[in-house]
Amino acid sequence: MIKLYNTLSRKKEIFKPLKDKKAGIYSCGPTVYWNQHIGNMYAYIQWDILVRFLKYSGYKVNWVMNITDVGHLTSDEDAGEDKMEKGARREKLSVQEIAKKYIGQFIESMDLLNIRRPDTLCRATEHIKEQIDLIKKIEEKGFAYQTKTGLVFDTSKFSGYAKFSRLNLKKQHAGSRVEIDPEKKQPWDFLLWVTNQPKHIMQWDSPWGKGFPGWHIECTAMSAKYLGNRFDIHTGGKEHIPVHHTNEIAQAYGAFGKQTANFWLHNEWLMIDKVKVSKSLGNIILTTDFIKKGYSPLAFRYLAITSHYRQGLNFSWKSLEASQNALNNLFEKVKEFTPTQTPTVPSGQVGRGLDRSAGGTNDYQKKFIDYLSDDLNAPKALALAWSLIKDEKVATEEKYRLLLDFDKVLGFNLAKIETEKIPVELSRLAEQRQKYREQKEWRKADEIREEMKKLGWTIEDTDEGPKVKRLQ
Ligand SMILES: [Zn+2]
Repeated sequence: MIKLYNTLSRKKEIFKPLKDKKAGIYSCGPTVYWNQHIGNMYAYIQWDILVRFLKYSGYKVNWVMNITDVGHLTSDEDAGEDKMEKGARREKLSVQEIAKKYIGQFIESMDLLNIRRPDTLCRATEHIKEQIDLIKKIEEKGFAYQTKTGLVFDTSKFSGYAKFSRLNLKKQHAGSRVEIDPEKKQPWDFLLWVTNQPKHIMQWDSPWGKGFPGWHIECTAMSAKYLGNRFDIHTGGKEHIPVHHTNEIAQAYGAFGKQTANFWLHNEWLMIDKVKVSKSLGNIILTTDFIKKGYSPLAFRYLAITSHYRQGLNFSWKSLEASQNALNNLFEKVKEFTPTQTPTVPSGQVGRGLDRSAGGTNDYQKKFIDYLSDDLNAPKALALAWSLIKDEKVATEEKYRLLLDFDKVLGFNLAKIETEKIPVELSRLAEQRQKYREQKEWRKADEIREEMKKLGWTIEDTDEGPKVKRLQ
């Protein structure tokens, strides 16, 4: 029995899929006008855990994620300039080139963090027809009106509009939008289709004039296309609750007379030294920065998993260092436990392992499932892996088998760990470094460490002396 915290009810609820053992998940994806930083990636690691755990529990998961490559203004509300066009101007590229560049950066970051690729990664610009069709439906049902700025959703037609965010709308939204479109009936009414923006590069013909879709409509249109107008789980950052998801719910109500997702899951943010990640503060860190500094991106995955998705994470380089050490130790343990003969890696289905394991080790798998079933308590599941490693009553082969089984959810690529021979050159460098250290020639010792790093290796000083390791 899996329980998930549903923002709709502000409670943990038992997850009941719409169709037996199938789960349709839609995650709000990136706006590809800039690099996706570790604050963005933190959320995708958490949703990757959700997807992996549902699969581990025997669900057939269909994971859909959008890519916003049009019409998303610099504020979530209908104000500001188009982010894509701003990016294009900044880098002297076309909007198409900007999209391509940053989709690439996003996918690279996902791969480095071992986030599974969504089954469908859909771009807003490739679904203009679906968005227009959906807006037509909303208009036919009487939920829209035209202003000079475009076609606007009439929130007064949906009495439940404020319910999802549970916030005082007047306080929340008054201000920016009124200036943008004084014809709006309510300041929090939002644009479904934007017209009369001659400077805007990306424009399409529509029944309401040449223009482009409002941001919120793409998620409703694409989730309905790929998952149906009723599906299991919708995810996003908590910042999406008051505007973006509130508007998605309103649009779906307008078009289908009901809202789309049974469960709405929201992640808390990653902060850096207790400050929000933002370009204006200049504290952006990218996944590839970890590699440049000699860390494994998987150390960041490890760090992200030490925090619960609804708690968020305060990132610091010190905490990353600790996670890198923990991950290295985990890899060492897995190497140590690796059976000398070709191991029989458990194959996919949960349950099979349970039948084969003997005695008290069943408890570990049961606990692992219990923790994750409790609103994805990955930090506890990760801590359990360490209890298992330290448990002297469990045989090493069994530890190995269970760790590889847990790794289907945790995602540290434990099955790919190989015991590796250290090249002679590296051993020599390590020896030289050790000599410098003994002579307290710290700078020279550090230079050697740097040189090793360039060759893809690292050195760790342990109680048993220095150990040379390949950078993960
Ligand atoms: Zn969305």
